[in-house]
Amino acid sequence: MTHGIDTLQVHAGARPDPATGARQVPIYQTTAYVFRDADHAAALFNLQEVGYIYSRLTNPTVSALQERVATLEGGAGAVCCSSGHAAQIMALFPLMGPGLNIVASTRAYGGTITQFSQTIKRFGWSCTFVDFDDLAAVEAAIDDNTRAVFCETIANPGGYVTDLDAIAAISDRAGIPLIVDNTAATPYLCRPIDHGATLVVHSMTKYLTGNGTVTGGCVVDSGKFDWSASDKFPSLSAPEPAYHGLKFHETFGNLAFTFHSIAIGLRDLGMTLNPQAAHYTLMGIETLSLRMQKHVENAGRIAAWLENHPAVEQVTYPGLPSSPYNDRVSRICPNGAGGLFTVTLKSGYEGCMKFVDSLEIFSHVANLGDTRSLVIHSASTTHRQLSKEQQVAAGAAPNVVRISIGIEDPEDLIADLDQALTASM
Ligand SMILES: *Cc1c(COP(=O)(O)O)cnc(C)c1O
Repeated sequence: MTHGIDTLQVHAGARPDPATGARQVPIYQTTAYVFRDADHAAALFNLQEVGYIYSRLTNPTVSALQERVATLEGGAGAVCCSSGHAAQIMALFPLMGPGLNIVASTRAYGGTITQFSQTIKRFGWSCTFVDFDDLAAVEAAIDDNTRAVFCETIANPGGYVTDLDAIAAISDRAGIPLIVDNTAATPYLCRPIDHGATLVVHSMTKYLTGNGTVTGGCVVDSGKFDWSASDKFPSLSAPEPAYHGLKFHETFGNLAFTFHSIAIGLRDLGMTLNPQAAHYTLMGIETLSLRMQKHVENAGRIAAWLENHPAVEQVTYPGLPSSPYNDRVSRICPNGAGGLFTVTLKSGYEGCMKFVDSLEIFSHVANLGDTRSLVIHSASTTHRQLSKEQQVAAGAAPNVVRISIGIEDPEDLIADLDQALTASM
């Protein structure tokens, strides 16, 4: 039986607790699980039987969350981890090796640009950044050593929607997986797997938990990629020495990536999500569609109001008819353009500083996707190490403020923005 998202966000992955009948998913605050007998323990360690061993690998509260996110995204399986950035490493780990590279969109979360341009070099991996609106350039950037294409659905700092179908067609032709960061869209606005994504990564820290309480991440596998079609993905297709020559793809089929992520990724990288955090995120997801509807409604109204304000030079919300990406919204994000955009002020850097300091309901923080409305002046904070040219390229010029619209009364948010804009002029 297939259910709608409003039903799945409440029920997927959860069933009454077999021990107590508890209706809500219990927080299994335990490190280890008693084996039935020595044979059971041996079978679990050999991956011959699936079960709970140790909470670095699996935990029932975390499993419920994995099943819920996988179901909402239309994937075969999912693995949760300790943050969105951990999820990105977990997604790449089975695919990559020294000398191999990924091709990623220039329009990405600032932390992702640092992770891909600097930190992954320590593993011998590299990244080529390309403008994903230039499809010929994306195709040209892929070489024999490329093992994944990476982009965000609605890209940070907001205002951009990726043409996922066009990018998926390119990665398909190259025989490599497309990894999509769906943090800013969430499965309520877009299911990247329906547009050809192989893997979907999330910072659950943002809209999935939704209220700024948890740091968490998730990798969802579509289960659709044929890891054995080439010799490019030996971790998944070739014998694994740590498990007596077991081949993950041959043994686990469309769950190969998920099993590998647990049996190798979590086991050895240890980027585990804790059960308390999983519980908060399960609670958050129960109201995902309700919150996203309100984020979208508020953002649309406020972006249109801002666009007509005398202090404002430009608003990048893709839901506005003035956005060059407006035509992609109905195709890629049919339920709305999200809650994230940037606003450019005529009063420049100084004006932006006065604007963020004058806001009363909006908080100046390095986060997004909260029930609360948030702003950040990227040029003086997250992007302050970059040159002016790099700031402009990243959509974080000195006169730009990023806004994450919350679920408060839109009249109150507009009144707050109005007084702060007046102070900024
Ligand atoms: C926040 C964020 C990340 C990183 O997630 P953390 O949970 O902070 O590690 C990655 N991608 C996007 C789009 C984000 O907004």
